[in-house]
Amino acid sequence: MICMIEKIMSDLYLIKVPIPNNPLKATNSYIIKGKDNNLIIDTGVNLKKSLNTILSGLKKIDVDLENTDFFITHLHSDHLDLALVLATNSSRIYFNQPDAEAIRGSNEWNDELYNIARVCGFPEDRLQEVIKKYSWHRYREIDPEIFTILKEGDTIDVGDFHFKFVETKGHSRGHMCLYESRKKLLFAGDHILSDITPNISLWSYDGNPLKDYLDSLDKVYELDIELTLPGHRSFIRDCRKRINELKLHHKMRAIEIISILKKGRRDAFQIASKMNWEMAYDSWKSFAINHKMFATLETIAHLKYLEEDGFIQKETQGQKILFSIR
Ligand SMILES: [Zn+2]
Repeated sequence: MICMIEKIMSDLYLIKVPIPNNPLKATNSYIIKGKDNNLIIDTGVNLKKSLNTILSGLKKIDVDLENTDFFITHLHSDHLDLALVLATNSSRIYFNQPDAEAIRGSNEWNDELYNIARVCGFPEDRLQEVIKKYSWHRYREIDPEIFTILKEGDTIDVGDFHFKFVETKGHSRGHMCLYESRKKLLFAGDHILSDITPNISLWSYDGNPLKDYLDSLDKVYELDIELTLPGHRSFIRDCRKRINELKLHHKMRAIEIISILKKGRRDAFQIASKMNWEMAYDSWKSFAINHKMFATLETIAHLKYLEEDGFIQKETQGQKILFSIR
């Protein structure tokens, strides 16, 4: 097996942990080696190929898991799950409170997702099938006690690295990044990615994750960063440029939604079906059902944002929510 390990700088390594059959291809797992302890930032999905890759990489750079802690940016299985396998009794798994709660409440999450998708026009007969397909929804029995919960501004030292935790909610309710101010490094998880737009979905109608996300982008914009190390794909040299691109992407989406609503009232599923998605399908009809779900949940996040900003309004008609221009 070719082990995808790369030395980024002294005591900092990257292992590309494969995600089989997934367009993301791999999770970037970063390893910081210290004198007495090591830190692994994000891991990978709990599959044999992924586990073997990370184990052989760790062996190559002499990482002893007995002296190793984990920092997990958010709850998705391609970041968290292998940490649960690799952690030893002496390991700490640093994590955030909102995501820890979301994992605990996975049944409620199921109901919430079901409700929101149904009222927004997602075909009811396909919902169960989609919920089953959600890879990060196949929730594992996790004892919340295993996590060491972190808050904004908490710090941790590993070798020559002095980290600060930065709350960057949006992609998940509690997503966190790690910032090293002296080395000007940001470990960005799925908050900022190089060539894909992080998925921002609305999971319950109380929240406004797109607003959270845009606020978190503004927050990171203020940091002095020379190298951004994301959870997937390639590194980002100019973080501010990428933030501007991501903000522009969401602005264009908002314009697209408003132009669709100018033609009349629609539910979220109908709106999603009319939008341009950067996916390898010829038409909305040929979208896989779980991709239709992603697109609808992302559309709902935009609709909630536009509604709170006063551009559009929603009304309930029978079981459904319809949106129109205000
Ligand atoms: Zn994610």
